[in-house]
Amino acid sequence: MSSDSDCIFCKIIAGEIPSFKLFEDENTLAFMDINPASTGHALVIPKEHAADVHAVSEAAIAQTVKTAKMIALAIDRTLNPDGLNLLQCNGPAAAQSVMHFHMHVLPRREGDELKLNWGLEPGDMDAIGALAERIRSNL
Ligand code: 5GP
Ligand code: ZN
Repeated sequence: MSSDSDCIFCKIIAGEIPSFKLFEDENTLAFMDINPASTGHALVIPKEHAADVHAVSEAAIAQTVKTAKMIALAIDRTLNPDGLNLLQCNGPAAAQSVMHFHMHVLPRREGDELKLNWGLEPGDMDAIGALAERIRSNL
């Protein structure tokens, strides 16, 4: 499986950088975003390194969407949000900051006014870790 030694998500897959892991199978990994745009913000990635929607294989994108659906359900059970976005960004102009294909699973609240380019603000790691445990228990 292709990997990029300079890629932060490949390092998370390899366990070289810690993460609040939610789910892992042979081809995909789901974990909490450490700069959450909303409470419960999670990411789902293929283990195969590919920069964006153009580079990712059809198999990897299908596997990633399948895992994202499972994570969306677990987040729904855990947080009962008013809504939820599955979002995927390609290129800096579309606010892609990590060049390893990923899907955001973004719980939404009525009136939260979340914008597409939300900016990166570090979250409370203890709270994110506790939430990850709750979401895992709802998988
Ligand atoms: P993008 O802006 O590329 O669509 O999304 C990249 C996401 O990765 C951002 O929401 C950012 O907070 C998240 N991110 C960047 N570095 C790390 C990291 O080291 N760990 C985790 N868990 N998330 C990260
Ligand atoms: Zn990568």
